[in-house]
Formats: sequence, C-alpha cells, structure tokens
Amino acid sequence: MVISVKEVLAEIVNPLPFSFTVDFSDLEFFGRVLFPHPGTFTGKVENRAGVLRLLGEISLTMDTTCDSCGEKVKRAVTLPVTHVLTLEESAAEKDDELIFCEDGKLDLADVAADTLVLQTEMRILCKPDCKGVCFGCGAKLNEEPCRCEKEIDPRFEALRSLL
Ligand SMILES: [Zn+2]
Ligand SMILES: [Zn+2]
Repeated sequence: MVISVKEVLAEIVNPLPFSFTVDFSDLEFFGRVLFPHPGTFTGKVENRAGVLRLLGEISLTMDTTCDSCGEKVKRAVTLPVTHVLTLEESAAEKDDELIFCEDGKLDLADVAADTLVLQTEMRILCKPDCKGVCFGCGAKLNEEPCRCEKEIDPRFEALRSLL
C-alpha cells in the first residue's frame, strides 16, 4: 500500500485517487483484536497550491464484546483521514500534523493503522448507556433488574415503605 506522491507534487497527476483493502485482524488494542474483518481505505492525495493533502476514509466493522456487559458488539466504523504531507523531513519534525513522505513515498497501511489506534475509543461499549453486569447478582442490567435488592435487611425494607 505504498503510493508515490511525487507526481502529485509535480501536478502530473492531481488528484491521485486510491482505494485499498485494509486488514487489521492482527492489530491488537489493549490485547485484543477489534477489527477481525477486512475493510477499505479510500481517498485521494491532492495538490492545492503546492500543499499536498491526504483526504480519505477508512471503513471497517468492529466485531468484539462490550467492556461493560460482555455482549457482542458488531458495528460499522467509518474514520475520516486528513493529513498534510511533506517531502521535507525537517518540516515534519517541527510539526506533528505533517506526515513525512520519505523519497516521495507514503505507506497508506501505516497511516491507516495510526488513524485506527488514535481514533478508537479505549473502552468499547455496546451502547453509550450500557448498564453492565451487577457485581453482586450477575444480572445483565440492560435486560433485567438487579436481584441484590432481596438481600436488603427487612428493617430497611420497613423503613422504605414509610418514605
Ligand atoms: Zn454493554
Ligand atoms: Zn445485583
């Protein structure tokens, strides 16, 4: 997935579209694989007034389990990719936003992997308000009420009825 951006810089080709299959089935996030199926990375490199830009989108399917309740999580993930490219190493060292293209070459697999690592949330939830599993009774709180209530001291129960 290495492309040459020299011809874009020289405006021989402008823009330069690309579309690749990406496979992150061996990329681990905190010890587990989140994207076991192949996806796509499509976009273009364009030269606008001498500034090289990488614009694209990574589409993948997240297929894992919820960190809170353990249920299956399978959803489409689309990540935008926007970078300014440079062929000057010194410029890239000064600015983290710039991607240095050594000898005019850009490895899109590296860009895609970096994007994924940066943009993937640390905690994967089946839904934003996942209630998880009760540590006391093991109830799946999205689906059923906690059963720990039963163990409440009857005296407190009497007190509650007064409220
Ligand atoms: Zn969940
Ligand atoms: Zn409980």
